[in-house]
Amino acid sequence: MTSLAAKVFCRAEKMCRHLPVMLNTFLVFSITGEVSYLVLMEAPLEASLKKTTWSAWWKVIHLIAQYFMLGNICWNSLLFLKTSPSIKGVFLGEGMGLGWRYCYTCEAHTPPRCSHCYDCKVCVLRRDHHCVFFGQCVGFHNYRFFLSCLLFMWSGLLYATLMNAEVFIVILKEGVTVHSVLLLLIPWIMLVSGQVSARAFAFAFIADTCVVGFLLVSAFFFFHLFLMIRGQTTREWYSSRRPYNLGLRRNLQHNLGRYWYICWLCPLIPSPMPGDGIHFEVTGSLEPTR
Ligand SMILES: [Zn+2]
Ligand SMILES: [Zn+2]
Repeated sequence: MTSLAAKVFCRAEKMCRHLPVMLNTFLVFSITGEVSYLVLMEAPLEASLKKTTWSAWWKVIHLIAQYFMLGNICWNSLLFLKTSPSIKGVFLGEGMGLGWRYCYTCEAHTPPRCSHCYDCKVCVLRRDHHCVFFGQCVGFHNYRFFLSCLLFMWSGLLYATLMNAEVFIVILKEGVTVHSVLLLLIPWIMLVSGQVSARAFAFAFIADTCVVGFLLVSAFFFFHLFLMIRGQTTREWYSSRRPYNLGLRRNLQHNLGRYWYICWLCPLIPSPMPGDGIHFEVTGSLEPTR
């Protein structure tokens, strides 16, 4: 009985760990589907509101742009999840020197900028943070895919928000009434209480998700750009010192690889990292100031 309970708990825990990824996948595909519909049908809520007539070529350009962004999001996510940033299987060498520590959980000497993740249950090379949306750590080996994924999520959500502007206009065309405001703020409750149709709910929900998602992803994306330019990880951000700052160009190279200026365009473009994630060039004092 105890072992059955443990098995059920274990399975439930695994499910919960994958829940954010499944939810994100669902949202990304729903938004892409809705925006494709807007492009193809040009009818956000009511057919009578069709004003623009886009040429077939213009529609094709929009669809290519959408699926290029979707492809990049999916591909970078897959490569991010498949690329282990941990110390497992990595030869760490002698394991002694400035900045090296001993991890009692992994029972190993770990290099500078490496730290233990209690969610992944392993030490991660140049650990940035544990990403709850992917359920995996962001570290030296998978940072490029993480940042490219954020870039395309940001651009995709910006595009979807602009495309959904018409949905907001249609909802608010009756004026800023309690009904229209509630539909935008709490579409779920409006649907359950029978105040709106499933179609109006779907458009309002996706338009809301685009705006909220865009604001959230913007904050993450620009924060990581800021850190990358400063040559810091999220964990090092708390310190006012930047001992690993190599200057803008080399910071970009050490985060995105040798071909940092083009590799973000497609995950297939190879971009070897200049370092090994174990040894780092130090340009300042490693002593903490606070
Ligand atoms: Zn460890
Ligand atoms: Zn982790």
